[in-house]
This record gives sequence, C-alpha cells and structure tokens, in this order.
Amino acid sequence: MEIQNLMQEIRENALDKMEKRSPEDLAASWSGEDILYSGKGNTIFIVLPTSGCAWAVSVSGGCTMCSYVADSPLEKVDSEELIDIFKKSIGKYEIKEKTVVKIFVSGSFLNPNEIPVRARNEILKILKNKENIEEVVVESRPEYITAEVLKECCKFLGNKIFEIGIGLETSNDYTREEKINKGFSREDFERALEIIKTTNLDCDVKAKAYLFVKPILTSEKNAIDEAVKSAEYAESVGVSRISFCPATIHKDTLMELLWKGGSYQPPWIWSIMEIIKQVRKSLDIPVIMDTAGFGSRRGPYNCKKCNSLLKNMIIDSNLNQTIPEDFECECKDKWRSEIEYGDITRSTTNLIRKK
Ligand code: SF4
Ligand SMILES: [Zn+2]
Repeated sequence: MEIQNLMQEIRENALDKMEKRSPEDLAASWSGEDILYSGKGNTIFIVLPTSGCAWAVSVSGGCTMCSYVADSPLEKVDSEELIDIFKKSIGKYEIKEKTVVKIFVSGSFLNPNEIPVRARNEILKILKNKENIEEVVVESRPEYITAEVLKECCKFLGNKIFEIGIGLETSNDYTREEKINKGFSREDFERALEIIKTTNLDCDVKAKAYLFVKPILTSEKNAIDEAVKSAEYAESVGVSRISFCPATIHKDTLMELLWKGGSYQPPWIWSIMEIIKQVRKSLDIPVIMDTAGFGSRRGPYNCKKCNSLLKNMIIDSNLNQTIPEDFECECKDKWRSEIEYGDITRSTTNLIRKK
C-alpha cells in the first residue's frame, strides 16, 4: 500500500535521527485529578519504556500522526527492569482514596512482545494489593485482546476495574485505513469488545475508545462531524468511556510533513468545544477530551486571548461531565468561516493561518 511505503520511509528517517536513551531515562510519571467511574478522584500516570509499538516497528511504518516509537529504547526491556521501574514510579506517590492508575506503554500493554507476561502479571499484582486503587487503565490494539489474556489479567488484578483503551480513532474504516494507517477494522474492534463483554471474568473489564480529532486530509467541518459520529458509534457498540485526542503535531510523522508544507493544521479549539457540546447532549457514557498541546503552535489553537480560557473550560467539563457554557471571542468568526467555506475550497488547512 502506498501510504505504508511512505510511513516506512518516514519511520526509517526518524529512527536514524533518534538519540539512544536508556529505559530508565524514558520512564515518566505524574499525578493529578481525574474522573473515575465512581466520580471525581485522583490519577497516577506511569509511562513504561518498551521495545516499541509492534505496529509502528513493523513493515506498516505505524500511524500517520504518531511518534511514540521515538519514546522507546528500541530494544527488549526485560521483566526485572520493567518491574523495577514500575515500583520506583508508583513508590513516588501517596495513593489517596479513589485513585486510578494509568499505565502507558506507547503501544499495547497486552502484547507479550512489548510487555513480557511476567512483568504484566507482577505489575497487576502490585496494584491489586493497594486498597485505594479503584481502577487500572491500560492501552492495547484489539488483536491482543483475547479471553485467555483477560482471564490472566483479572487473576492478578483481583476485584478492581480494568479498563482497556483501544485506539479506534474513528468509526470510518476508510479514514482509519487510508488517512491514519491504523491497520485494523471496525470488525476487529467489535470482535475485541465482544470478548470483553462475553468472557466470564473475575474483575470488571471495561473498554474505552480513543478517538482522534482531525486526521490528515480532513476539513475542519468533517473533523467535527466524524468525531461526533464516531463517539455515537462507540457508545452504540458498548464502550464504557470515550477519550478524544485532538491532533497535535508529533515530530517525524506524515502529519508533520503535511503541516510543514502548509497542507495540514490541527483543529481549532472552537471545533473541540463544538464536539464536546454535541456529545455531552447525545451520549450517556463519560467522555474525556484530552487537552495536551492546546494553545501551542503544534496543537489545537484559537487565539492568544482565548486559548487558556477555553482549555480550562474543557478541563472543567472533563471533571464534571457538564456542557461548557457559550463563549465568544473575536477569533470565533474566522472559525465560523472555516466551517462554512472549508468544504467549498476543499481545504484541510485553515483558511486564515493562525500563528
Ligand atoms: S497510534 Fe498506537 S498503534 Fe498507532 S503507531 Fe502509535 S502507538 Fe502504535
Ligand atoms: Zn480567541
């Protein structure tokens, strides 16, 4: 496939430029407030280094917007080292009542070639023994979600919520295949959900869908419509939570190449507000909007006057699951014309560039 050849070339160039870093250096963690299934609580976020997302290092070249492979040591990290890094990371935090632990591996936690089974089981066992932890959240592509793996995870995690975030990105198979190069279909996603729903398990396994806002070659208006449709689809097939990821430009990706050439611009924050307003009205499940990169040159952007204000309104809307209030700023008319005329001009960048 043409896009895969291109992605392979981009990835090879990125890997050539990459500075080698140790697994310890690549690990990271932080804490904050979050919304749990039981209401407002706390989160501890832990990034574990692995040999890299199997999809990104395969002949596919990976997804068009993702540079997580650059956060990998690109060599096997053995179980002992991973367990040690995990223990050190979680040991830094006081585990308050109502805590969710999110483990991010820049790929699939359930793929034994990325996280060895021994490390996976040991990490879950450590979390099982911490009473204040209500939920454990991991990420995985659908092909690694099997009844066997889920049963084993539940055996080690015990009686907690185990949420698996799947990067569905969009409900549109064409967009996922041709614009994102994701390499799995809606059918694959639904198969994984079916396994989660029908397997008899000792812990409460839930599925979350990650949805990407504004893939390459998508107009501002279509980005809004597709995001809303995708969320409605994800709820209808049984996901328990949705997390939107509005585009930010990662280094050494096809998205960056198009952005540098003036053929792509991340979404307006107005568009993000519009998506939240629509999905809060039409969906019953919790929806979170990631605000990483908001107001930066490489992320969702409105204008200097309203970027931070709207970002804070969105963070508040995440924690309370409320519809943000209407807000006006002089930049909103530019966004309105983008929505109105972007399709006529077939523009996938902004009509008036905002720098
Ligand atoms: S988006 Fe996920 S599946 Fe795609 S390359 Fe990045 S980590 Fe891998
Ligand atoms: Zn503004």
